[in-house]
Order: sequence, then C-alpha cells, then structure tokens
Amino acid sequence: MTELKSCPFCGGEAVPVYSDKGSLYTSNILMLSAKGTVKCKKCEVRLQRIYSRVGKAIEAWNKRAESEWIPVTERLPEGKQEVLVTEYGDTDMGRRFDGRWVDRYGDKMKDVTAWMPLPESYTE
Ligand SMILES: [Zn+2]
Repeated sequence: MTELKSCPFCGGEAVPVYSDKGSLYTSNILMLSAKGTVKCKKCEVRLQRIYSRVGKAIEAWNKRAESEWIPVTERLPEGKQEVLVTEYGDTDMGRRFDGRWVDRYGDKMKDVTAWMPLPESYTE
C-alpha cells in the first residue's frame, strides 16, 4: 500500500492534490495514476511541480519526508552552532541565540519551522 508520510516541516497530515484542466483539488480517494502533487493540510507546503502521476509525487514527497529536517516543535539545536533552517519555505542559515533564532548577521528570524545540521565542508 502506498502511504503518504507526514509533513517534514510541521508534522501535519499530507494529502494528494489532483490537477484537472488547470485547477487543483484534493480528494480522500487515492488515484495513483492521476496527474497531481502532494501538499500538507496544516502548513500548506507543497511539492514544487505537478507530476504526471500522483504515485510519483508521493514517492518524491516521502523521500523529502525522510530527509534530516528536524521540526522546531520536536527539537532545537544545542548551543550556538550554525544550522540550515527553513523560514517561509526557504532554506537559510541560522542559530539559536538568547532563546530565539538569529541569522548570520545576528538579525532575528521570525518563522523558522525546521532545521538540520550543516553538511561537512568540501575538502580536496
Ligand atoms: Zn506541514
């Protein structure tokens, strides 16, 4: 059975979104071969593109859900280490300072939803 994993950003329930003649609609019936995409019911995050088959979109969504993004509601980074953060659906860098999120320049970040550790730097 094909299962949709929950949202990697907010942990909300994900639903398939179908595309028919340019309009988008959601349905409780899973139509794997229909054209469409996947979105989160709670935070409205959705995959960038419309897939020719919803089955493909679900695969892409589940892969993303397996990435190492950690919702801020679940856990926060320790200390003042810089991490990758998601704010307003964009990826940026930030860290915790004085109990809140700040960016590289020390400016306050208001809407960080998830974070993940920085990857190792490239070495030759
Ligand atoms: Zn969500």
